[in-house]
Amino acid sequence: MTAAVRAYVARVSDYPLEPGRADIQAMAAAAAEMVADFVEGLPDAPAYAVDPAQVARLVPRLLREPPERPVSGDGPGAGPTDALGPLLAEFREATVVAADVAGPGYMAYVGGGGLVTSALAEFLARAVNRYTGLATFAPALVAIEESVLRWMCRTFGLPATAAGVVSTGGSLATLTAVVAARTQALGEDIGRGTAYVSAYTHRCVAKAAHVAGLRRDQVRVVPSTPDLRMDPVAAVAMIAADRAAGRVPFLLVATGGTTHTGTVDDLVALADVAAAHEVWFHVDGAYGGFFQLTERGRARLAGIERADSIVLDPHKSLFLPHGTGVTLVRDGATLRRAFAADGHYLQDAGADDRLPDYADMGPELTRDYRGLRLWLPLHLHGVGAFRDALDEKLDLAAFAHLELAADPRLEAPWAPDLSTVAFRLRDGTADEQRALLARVNASGRVFISSTLVEGRVTLRLCIITFRTHRDRVAEAVDIVREAAAAVTAGRGTPA
Ligand SMILES: *Cc1c(COP(=O)(O)O)cnc(C)c1O
Repeated sequence: MTAAVRAYVARVSDYPLEPGRADIQAMAAAAAEMVADFVEGLPDAPAYAVDPAQVARLVPRLLREPPERPVSGDGPGAGPTDALGPLLAEFREATVVAADVAGPGYMAYVGGGGLVTSALAEFLARAVNRYTGLATFAPALVAIEESVLRWMCRTFGLPATAAGVVSTGGSLATLTAVVAARTQALGEDIGRGTAYVSAYTHRCVAKAAHVAGLRRDQVRVVPSTPDLRMDPVAAVAMIAADRAAGRVPFLLVATGGTTHTGTVDDLVALADVAAAHEVWFHVDGAYGGFFQLTERGRARLAGIERADSIVLDPHKSLFLPHGTGVTLVRDGATLRRAFAADGHYLQDAGADDRLPDYADMGPELTRDYRGLRLWLPLHLHGVGAFRDALDEKLDLAAFAHLELAADPRLEAPWAPDLSTVAFRLRDGTADEQRALLARVNASGRVFISSTLVEGRVTLRLCIITFRTHRDRVAEAVDIVREAAAAVTAGRGTPA
């Protein structure tokens, strides 16, 4: 080193972006303390706590820009730990003003809860920040992720040609599947292709079709039977009519547990339709897929093993924190055909023929390492713990359905296929159904949502959060019944 270089190096003596060992430990301990408090507080926390006054107080403050220097950590000898305390407190306060999606009372939309063990995996995976888009950069870490995907392929009865890729959620996983199907069936000539969905198909499918370059009229809505399943006979008729009209039917989308009512389409019949008409058979298992781990779920999802692609949301029925979706395909080559891309900047990367390059199997190149957040909980708790939790949800939904259906003020016309119970006030107006929903949610003990079934406002208990157990479901049933009594008590005497 020249004297000038030595002087330069000596001058740069303090790197605040790299906390030292003691700071890492202190910060992690503070974070762990907060998480432990949070988890302990969940059973007593309100199920929904978006209080307008709190929002008005917190939001403007939190919209502030970051400071040039840490607000309380820039004194002599102060480390990042000193600045962390107030920021953690602020974060903690912000988490309170929310629908408690993590808690036992969350039965709206489709929850999951968020395993703390998966969050811990996230901390580790992100701290080491390995690159896993191309296998040669971290083959052993890719093997960890791949082991989980292969287990999923086997769980769904897919053949040895199958492959999977982990993305951020059901929507991106669906986009991945739709583009694979489109590429496989239509090549570059996509204008005449038609896809088939039902009225209860999740809207992410239409969105994926749009992003994949299809016009709105290329997504056809097949009628449903009175039990809310896609009508296979109607699907055949539509596919035949479209083909006769010069269109190219290429994709049939079945749902393995609708978001509305948890209904599972007749996958065997729809697989037959897809096979007979040579269209790609996709099963959306974002909500219901992992019930395949249970005996009852496997029976209800029969036919899923014939899918060309399956979408799963580990952040729903595998209880992970938000941000993990999975696409499985029957033939891994279809993903590569759709997504493999070259760039000169990647010319040195090489390949490992035992392991996949995930960058060639989906829309992303650089990605967060998603293997550990799946692998760690599955190994730490064992698959049986997940199976049992899902079985418990099936029992809880069956219990809630029996209880609600037995109340003369309510109707619950569909026995749950999985863990969602749809119900409404018998002979209720739409306003009364909404009043019932508002009363239930005002309890603060459960948070539920509504949907439209055959055009009628219908409430739903979606029991999928791993923290929801018997006590809270029994409480939910009581709350619904009391609310139904209160809403119907307001009715005038009939003329
Ligand atoms: C939640 C859901 C999706 C969308 O998944 P995201 O993870 O929210 O993007 C798709 N299909 C079904 C059936 C769902 O329940």
